[in-house]
Amino acid sequence: MLLFLTVTVALQASVADTSPFRALPLPAPNRVRGASGAPGPDYWQQRADYVIRATLDTAGSVLRGSERIRYANHSPDTLRFVWIQVEQNLFAKNSLTYALNQPPLHFAGGAVFDFTGKGFIGGITIERFRSAGRELRRIEYGTMMRVELPRPLAPKGLIDFDVAWHFPVPPYGGGRMGRIGTRLYEMGQWYPRMVVYDDVHGWNPLPYIGAGEFYLEYGDFDVTLTLPAGFVVAATGTVANPLAVWSTEQRARLARARGSAERVQVITQAEATAHGARRTPGAKTWRFTARNVRDFAWAASPDFRWDASAWNGVLIQTFYRPSATPWEEANRMAWFTIQHFSETWGMYPWPHATTVEGLVEGMEYPMLTFVPAIDKREDQFWVLTHEFGHEWFPMMVGSDERRYPWMDEGFNTFIDYGSAEGYFKGTAYGDTVRRELLTDYRISAVPGNEQPLIAKPVESRDLAWTAYQKPALMLTVLRDAVLGKETFERALREYVRRWTFKHPQPADFFRTIENVSGRDLDWFWRAWVYTTARLDQAVDSVATVGDTTLVFLSNRGQMVLPVTLEVRYAEGASDIRELPIEMWNLGSRFTARIATGKSVVGVVVDPSQIYPDVDRANNRWPR
Ligand SMILES: [Zn+2]
Repeated sequence: MLLFLTVTVALQASVADTSPFRALPLPAPNRVRGASGAPGPDYWQQRADYVIRATLDTAGSVLRGSERIRYANHSPDTLRFVWIQVEQNLFAKNSLTYALNQPPLHFAGGAVFDFTGKGFIGGITIERFRSAGRELRRIEYGTMMRVELPRPLAPKGLIDFDVAWHFPVPPYGGGRMGRIGTRLYEMGQWYPRMVVYDDVHGWNPLPYIGAGEFYLEYGDFDVTLTLPAGFVVAATGTVANPLAVWSTEQRARLARARGSAERVQVITQAEATAHGARRTPGAKTWRFTARNVRDFAWAASPDFRWDASAWNGVLIQTFYRPSATPWEEANRMAWFTIQHFSETWGMYPWPHATTVEGLVEGMEYPMLTFVPAIDKREDQFWVLTHEFGHEWFPMMVGSDERRYPWMDEGFNTFIDYGSAEGYFKGTAYGDTVRRELLTDYRISAVPGNEQPLIAKPVESRDLAWTAYQKPALMLTVLRDAVLGKETFERALREYVRRWTFKHPQPADFFRTIENVSGRDLDWFWRAWVYTTARLDQAVDSVATVGDTTLVFLSNRGQMVLPVTLEVRYAEGASDIRELPIEMWNLGSRFTARIATGKSVVGVVVDPSQIYPDVDRANNRWPR
């Protein structure tokens, strides 16, 4: 009996560690993904190279293509089947998206996302899927297709797939591609492509149902597109047959643009208008090659104006319809954006950065973005810089967007604020735009409704908050309140350097920032990424003992952060005390001892109001 009693007491005495500073349970580091957050000595990823030939039939708006996928197995595993993405099946009659038949998502900030085809029935028809001349057995599940290999693909093995397909081009392709009649085509998610096979999940065939973007292998592309002769084409990759597709005059203007920081008009307004009105018979074939990209997109229209300039050897191009305003400034916006992101976060790695004006409300592809015409100049800049910011996240840093939108949309939104602050520096907008993150916090961080960042995008009720704004606020707080600008920027740059053209997981990001900054940040990631913890720092009271002033502080919420304390003295003097995060090591109360000899008449916590503190009324003494 006594023995049992002892055991019972021992069990009751064992309580869970509830400290905010307990270790975050991350996957154990290994030789693929190291403890420092860098790729390990055995890091591997698969490779997929594509040779595609496609023809656009504008009469029926049908795209027909054939492709060779060369798939290299760099994994240590033998593969007996592969998964292929066929995103056009989002618009198939029996798609998951149409079966769910949900209205567009409306968000607190006013954003609306319609991820459907707005009723358009399409879908891709796979005419053949062969290897070595043999048709392969396949099963489609929505936008994913499993293909049985003719024989197991061993580690270091290589296989070629020969695929032919066609699909009707939807007018509205889930907000990410589409067309306006037969005058403008913006083409993404258009060719069957490999699903990522990685060391964390194996195959990653999470279906594309709308929210939740892409996770793609890197490789080289050789793409040949045949279109009506009057169309001008912009695409991922470099034009490989310039003599066949551009006039002598266009080539001369383009050569001038390569040495110009100011835009050179390669196709002027008058030329675009005249060109668009002309009926050009026949077809023209364009060939593009791209190296080290995770996707390939293109756009085509007979109506494009075309401006170009260059920064540091990168050709900056804007294609837009004559009716689009304010697109004459767009090239300068793009030029500033590519320079700003390159100099701050890591050099842009490809030969051109191009944006196309059209129906898509904002979408990113390697070297190519789709941006609409927006009346308000600040909003126009924002969408343009945002889509180009995606060249860093996820085109260079190839994260898994389908699971972790905060690692691409969120990191990108954070760097976009820096770009907007730079472009509009000295204006009311430029100097205050980042404040909207705290306004959004008040609107969207509703207890009981808010979801943690780690929630999958398809489960998010407020994607604008969890995928975009909150992670941008998280990195702003990490920079301004925890690490300081220099340390923070060095750490984020190192994350970009380590993971460019690779596939980072959340733990790789956390570990890289902690390792480079030299700070344990498990408490920070837990609060911001895995929970919806809220912050409430407070001054409880102030007392004077001899010539020392005691400031009694408390942390009343679940989130911890360092404290910035403004101490005010008689005759209007004041100073700032930075109290490090270690202040909360012993619990949620802390006494700041200020030995000044001067008479303290007031104290304020977070005086510049950079924290999302949910109750500011208790931040000051006297109240
Ligand atoms: Zn985005």
